[in-house]
Amino acid sequence: MAEFNCYICSGKVRTGEKFTFTRTGSVHFDCFISSRRKEIAPEKQEELRTLSILLDSQLKHLLDVLAIGHHEGKTGELVRNKYKEIEKACGETTKHISEL
Ligand SMILES: [Zn+2]
Repeated sequence: MAEFNCYICSGKVRTGEKFTFTRTGSVHFDCFISSRRKEIAPEKQEELRTLSILLDSQLKHLLDVLAIGHHEGKTGELVRNKYKEIEKACGETTKHISEL
């Protein structure tokens, strides 16, 4: 996996760490959630909490599928397609959090 830098803490995003992409760039999951917590209105904190739990579990799922590694043939293709599906779902949740 290519290496990215987190736009909040400027640290490297390492393989196996939970991170996501926003319109600004790549960001650690923890950095993203804590910065959103400071930015959004008090009445939206509960929504943020729910969406952050959802994103956390989706990103964990993504890392678990990534850890399966590369395989040839039909099974490999299935794993790659599943990875893309989960990645898309993570992107959607990230977008919801960005728009809170
Ligand atoms: Zn960070």
